[in-house]
Amino acid sequence: MNTHHIQEECGVFGCIGHPEAANITYLGLFALQHRGQESAGIVAQNGSHFTHYRGIGLVSEVFNDKNLQPLIGNRALGHVRYSTTGTVNHNNVQPLLINCSKGNLALAHNGNIVNAGTLRRELSNKGHIFQTTLDSEVILHMVSRSRHQNSIDALSETLQQIRGAYSIALLSDDLCIAARDPWGVRPLVIGKLDNTLLIASESCAFDMIGATLIREVLPGEMVILSDSGITSHMFAEPHPHAHCIFEYIYFSRPDSIVFGKSVYEVRTELGRQLARETAVDADLVIGVPDSGNYSAIGYAEESGIPYDLGLIRNHYIGRTFIQNSTLAREFGVKVKLSPIHSLINGKRIIVIDDSIVRGTTSKKIVAMLRNAGAREIHLRSSAPAYRHPCYYGVDTPNPKALIAANNTIKEIESYLQVDSLQYLSIEGMLKAVDKTTPEQTPYCTACFSGNYPIVIEEGISKEHLEV
Ligand code: AMP
Repeated sequence: MNTHHIQEECGVFGCIGHPEAANITYLGLFALQHRGQESAGIVAQNGSHFTHYRGIGLVSEVFNDKNLQPLIGNRALGHVRYSTTGTVNHNNVQPLLINCSKGNLALAHNGNIVNAGTLRRELSNKGHIFQTTLDSEVILHMVSRSRHQNSIDALSETLQQIRGAYSIALLSDDLCIAARDPWGVRPLVIGKLDNTLLIASESCAFDMIGATLIREVLPGEMVILSDSGITSHMFAEPHPHAHCIFEYIYFSRPDSIVFGKSVYEVRTELGRQLARETAVDADLVIGVPDSGNYSAIGYAEESGIPYDLGLIRNHYIGRTFIQNSTLAREFGVKVKLSPIHSLINGKRIIVIDDSIVRGTTSKKIVAMLRNAGAREIHLRSSAPAYRHPCYYGVDTPNPKALIAANNTIKEIESYLQVDSLQYLSIEGMLKAVDKTTPEQTPYCTACFSGNYPIVIEEGISKEHLEV
């Protein structure tokens, strides 16, 4: 398997029971664009007739009136995908769509299946021919070969054999099923627009179309959505949860409710906690837009130091990580952010970023602020030090590139040319999010703590280190 394809973050949307299901899905994908900018796709279902359109690029680049028009039917599934891979592979664009012994099956997946390598090898040995390099494809193969004719039983049997992070939506000829792994790593919610049922990675997609959030799909639950309503089926025993805490820090939109909490509220509280832990005398608090702004507001509130918008973001380029080489990334940061000189000049600045991964973004920002006349720069990360790769669906670079994994704070301060650098503590982060302690947390904190809640296959970690 191409290792690049196992690390990704994605957005899923589904619409059941609307004459313009594909158009609704198109709108929903717009609201989820932050979860994936590499490719987008929609599958529409009209009885047992499935049509799809998928392409590389942003939702606005992939879809137009002409290609949306043939997507007829009152059920649709959409997906946006994020990946750092240089070689964009059209076959990997989701939703995946196959026709098999169970009829048509369309699948949209967010997460990463950690035993996909083994399952794929076993299936290949039995003669299965894979069309993509996606871990998600094993789900379709397993459903298709299941001895159960009924897609609920076939999917339930499949999910009991796969391990990892998965929030999925599946369309078959007769059903739409949303399911979430027993750890509940990635978010997935159900919503309602009049009589139409909706599925989305984040609730912000419902707000956009005037729909309401009903509830989360529970960890270990399969929710069957049909014109007659919702039924639920637990396919796994109750399990300790491991919601990805990075969803709060960076991925999810601040206007979403994720894992039952407002992302905005969590982000500002992370900033307040950061101020309690890392106070320093300064004239101004600024955030690195967009995700750093919310913690900066909380930090300013708690510290009593004024907050202002010292960095302005150009919204017309993608997130910096979408670039795939270091050079492109550095260039991307410059294009993306610019300082307001009159605000910065002569001041002692506290800069809050949501996270520091490679340090590339921070280095550029610090240089920018120095050029704008900052007298002192105190960098604060509203996430703890990012030291370990994620195997559950977040793109992370080779551990060798994770700045905090390989350097002391002093070394990073000197590399970034800041007067001081401090990270939020893991305990502080958990306190800010949920008032829990590391022993009782329902969150996955692996990227900070190295405690991986789902056992990782030998092969995956090796492959990943070679990326
Ligand atoms: P870096 O330059 O590698 O230190 O990148 C850190 C910046 O990228 C932070 O400002 C975050 O907002 C953002 N970021 C952190 N993690 C990710 C990720 N997995 N994908 C995309 N962007 C990220």
